[in-house]
Amino acid sequence: MVQSPSGQLKVTVSDAGGRLHYSATLNGQQVLEPSALGLKTSIGDFTRDLTLLDTKEQPVESHYQMRGTKASSACYKANQIVLNLQNKDQMRFSVVMQVSDHDIAFRYDIPRQKFQKKDMKRVRILSEASSFNLPDGTTTFISPQIGPETGWEQTKPSYEETYSADAPMATPSQYGHGYIFPALFHLPNGWLLLNETGVGSNYCGAHLSDYQAGSGYAIAYPDPGENNGFGSAFAAIPLPGQTPWRTVTIGSLSDIAETTISYDLVEPRYAPSTDYQPGRYTWSWLIWQDNSINYDDQVKFIDLASAMGFEYCLVDNWWDTQIGRDRIAELSKYAQSKGVHLLLWYNSNGFANDAPQGPRDCMNTAIAREREMKWMQSIGIKGIKVDFFGGDKQETMRLYEDILSDANRYGLQVVFHGCTIPRGWEKMYPNYVASEAVLASENVFFNEGAAIRQPFDLTLHPFCRNTTASMDWGGIIMNKYLSKDNKSRHTRKTTDIFEMASGITMQTSVQCVAMQPNNLGELPQFEMDFLRQLPTTWDETCLIDGYPGKYVVLARRHGQDWYVAGLSAEKQPLTLTLTLPMFNKGESLQYYVDNKKGEPTLTTLKVDKKGQAKVTIQPNGGLIIKR
Ligand code: CA
Repeated sequence: MVQSPSGQLKVTVSDAGGRLHYSATLNGQQVLEPSALGLKTSIGDFTRDLTLLDTKEQPVESHYQMRGTKASSACYKANQIVLNLQNKDQMRFSVVMQVSDHDIAFRYDIPRQKFQKKDMKRVRILSEASSFNLPDGTTTFISPQIGPETGWEQTKPSYEETYSADAPMATPSQYGHGYIFPALFHLPNGWLLLNETGVGSNYCGAHLSDYQAGSGYAIAYPDPGENNGFGSAFAAIPLPGQTPWRTVTIGSLSDIAETTISYDLVEPRYAPSTDYQPGRYTWSWLIWQDNSINYDDQVKFIDLASAMGFEYCLVDNWWDTQIGRDRIAELSKYAQSKGVHLLLWYNSNGFANDAPQGPRDCMNTAIAREREMKWMQSIGIKGIKVDFFGGDKQETMRLYEDILSDANRYGLQVVFHGCTIPRGWEKMYPNYVASEAVLASENVFFNEGAAIRQPFDLTLHPFCRNTTASMDWGGIIMNKYLSKDNKSRHTRKTTDIFEMASGITMQTSVQCVAMQPNNLGELPQFEMDFLRQLPTTWDETCLIDGYPGKYVVLARRHGQDWYVAGLSAEKQPLTLTLTLPMFNKGESLQYYVDNKKGEPTLTTLKVDKKGQAKVTIQPNGGLIIKR
């Protein structure tokens, strides 16, 4: 048994019958039923006939600084137990289990050892038995994994399926391929979030299997058909070696929304080559689409970024043919003359899928990347968005890491789209910004159903997809209609204040503000002023109130300034009494809120003598409170 530093979270590991199980209690209540541990490898089956050789216990502690996430510094304290085991053939492995007050993390270590008389310095990890067996009565906030070579131009899986809320565990997954990380669960007595971290070129990305009564969800490896069938569905590691960390965050919704466990367990894999700048970017493609990828329209979005004081403008797909490299160099020069830097879109191809957009074949080999990135650096490009990856195999994780480390040599920040979730990457790779890996803003443009879902999605992600990692949702949208003329196609379903507040609840260090040039003449001055000063990096994050998929009120600190931001997906006005310890009792604050008609207002809000304030968020509306 190993317990957290405060003693509130306790994990018990048992080797009864030669099989390993772990279970956990929080404040004496069962939060994990006996759940399997172990793995099958090319040098032995470590799921059965196991004997415990010895154990070693020690406290672990780390304090670290970070940039570009929900917190600028974090402290991790846990108690670690290492269980050294062997199977019936005397092949050895270890379980490393760390328990902090709100997290369980475990991984497997395999030592160098003799196998069939050979001195093994490598191993294939074929499958993992690790499972998460949750108490009866638990409901799920999870999203299905989808099969390979599906979706538009066979680009999936790319973590763009829908999350459902409060569903029973026994519901079969939509596509029969289990569920993606992160996965959120409402236990009878708390909340639990499953994820993994520390996965780069060293391993494949994992997900969860379908639910099995009696054993719960198990770790599943990629489908063999991913990445055009190329690369293995298992992982290969050198010996001595280790698997990535599987993490279980347990407690209240605050513990879930504030967790830094994705970063606590990983280390930077290289140093930054330059001081990467956070910021905001404009993006023509979201609403003006492919036709806007021409020199003159891009000038309009550069001018918009410049007028707003934004740092970046993203030029999306087809620029190689619709603008051309020489004119991109001119465009970059023009942008810099206006105090803006360009970000350029790339296709990740190769052979991963059939996505036709150019530029193609510039990011899939070291030779092509070298040529391309050198050119980008010479013309003042500051970042890339690479789209359409092939899945979660170790082969593909290696491509992500290679793009990141090469881009760092040329001072380029990196956003991924059509991609897997990041797993500790903000800390592992200092020029990594964010991934899409979410049913994002492009869907709000494509179809009205996603526009209707948007408030649900954006009130869920602070507890799930966006609490474990940065998320490039792709745009605070200020157009009333999802069209260039701002009067045709479907309407946006959210209020202006919802969109502005989402710029705070959604976390990424380079945030898209998908304003359109027409918005400059349309938006009230106080909205413009707010968007101009919107920060994108945070020193501290606290949950004030919320329920996944219904509403969220988050407080984030940037330097000395606290921003309290709320979103509601409810059908009726939502009245809340917020406890606001970051402000003074009796203090009057700026209060951005929708009126009963859903129109934006800027007024004042007074914190009462108890440090509380009563607020009302309108349906699909929002609020922002700041000094
Ligand atoms: Ca996408």
